[in-house]
Amino acid sequence: MRATHRLHEIAAIAQHRAGYSPEEDAAHELAAGWMHAAGLETHVDAGGNLHGRRGDARVWSGSHLDSVPTAGRFDGALGVVAAIEAAERLPGAPLGVVVFRAEETGPLGSRRLDELPAAFVELHIEQGPVLAGLGQALGIVTGVAGQTRGAVVFEGRADHAGTTPMDARDDALVAAATFVLRVRESARGSAVATVGAVEVEPNAVNVVPARVTVSVDARARTSAELDELVAAIGFEPGSRVEPVAFSGAPLAALRAVLPGAPELVSGAGHDAMVLAEAGVPTAMLFVRSLNGGVSHHPDELSSDEDVARGIDALTAALDRLALP
Ligand SMILES: [Zn+2]
Repeated sequence: MRATHRLHEIAAIAQHRAGYSPEEDAAHELAAGWMHAAGLETHVDAGGNLHGRRGDARVWSGSHLDSVPTAGRFDGALGVVAAIEAAERLPGAPLGVVVFRAEETGPLGSRRLDELPAAFVELHIEQGPVLAGLGQALGIVTGVAGQTRGAVVFEGRADHAGTTPMDARDDALVAAATFVLRVRESARGSAVATVGAVEVEPNAVNVVPARVTVSVDARARTSAELDELVAAIGFEPGSRVEPVAFSGAPLAALRAVLPGAPELVSGAGHDAMVLAEAGVPTAMLFVRSLNGGVSHHPDELSSDEDVARGIDALTAALDRLALP
C-alpha cells in the first residue's frame, strides 16, 4: 500500500526528526513532492509550516512530521500521508493539506499560522490501547484532556542507614511513596495521574533520604474534573492547560461517516488542539494502535487494513466538509 510505503520513506530519513532540523526539512520536502503529485500547490508560511492547496481551500487536514528521539513510524506522519491520499482521491474538492512544524516540542508551528481554515480534521494514531480493547479500528476524538503539572517536595532528615533505629527516622522517600499511591488512587473514571520523575537526596544506598521531589502530571476531560483531581491529590500545579472540546461541522462529518464509532478524549496534546483553541471548528480521527498502544517507540503500529479504513473515513469526511 502506498501510504505504508510513504511512512517507511519518512522514517528512513531519521528516527528523530526534531522540529526545524534538517531531518524535519527533508520530511517536508518529501511531503511537498507528494502534494504536487496529488495536484496541490505548495507554499511554506512564516512559521515554516508546509501547505498544499487546491482552489479556495477552507477545509484543511494534516498533522506533523517531526518526531521524538525514540519515535515509531506513525505518530504525526500517518496524518500527513492520509491527508495527501484523501486530497488526491477528491480531485475536484477545494482542500488544504498542512504539515505543522515542531509538534513534539510545542506545538510550535500550529501556533504560528498566518491564516486559519474554516474547518480542520486531523487523523492520528491513537497512542493508547482503548480502540484495540474495544475491537474497533477507528474512533472519533471529541476533545483533548486538560492537564496540570507540578512538583511536590518531601523534607526528612539524612541519617545513617545502619545506626538509626526505624522508629527514630524521618524518611522523606517513605513519605513520598505514600503520596505516589495517593496520586494513583485520586484518578477516578477517565482521569489519569502520574508520578513519572523522582529526585532523591542524597540518593545514597546507606543514607536515609533527606529530601525527595516528585513530579505530578494530572489530566481530566473537563475543567471541573481537573479541579477535583488536583484537590484529591493535594498539590499546587505549576502549570495548567484547560481541556479543549471539539465541535461543529468536522465532528458532525466524522459522526455521519462513522455511525456508531466509539468516541474518546485524547489524553495527549495535538496540533488539532491548537486550532480548536484558536476558534477553528476541529475534530480528530484516531486509528487503532496495536502492540498494546505503545507510542513514541519503534513498536508503534497500525495495520495496513486500519490505515486504509482511516484514509477512507477521512476522505469521506473531507468530501462532506468541502461541499460548496
Ligand atoms: Zn503526534
